[in-house]
Amino acid sequence: MDSYYVGFLDSDEPHFLESCSRCRKTLSLNSDIFMYRGDMAFCSQECRQEQIESDETKSKRWRKTSSSRSSSLRKSSDSKDSAAGETVRTKSLVMA
Ligand SMILES: [Zn+2]
Repeated sequence: MDSYYVGFLDSDEPHFLESCSRCRKTLSLNSDIFMYRGDMAFCSQECRQEQIESDETKSKRWRKTSSSRSSSLRKSSDSKDSAAGETVRTKSLVMA
């Protein structure tokens, strides 16, 4: 039961999820990650909010062109060792 996280560290998650886009704090694997615009990750709601506000200031000058870019956050289910069962993910992704 406590071996669920084995193998999680070498996952092919995009590296932008490794640290907060705002304060660069390393994102914990078992705490919540706050997503914004599908490609930015934050350690807390506060950090995300700061980024949103900063972006809103900027977007008054230029149109947003990539607001609905699809992200590939989902891991493919055909992992190498299916015997170990599905990867258990306790962290939740909160989409903005
Ligand atoms: Zn942060």
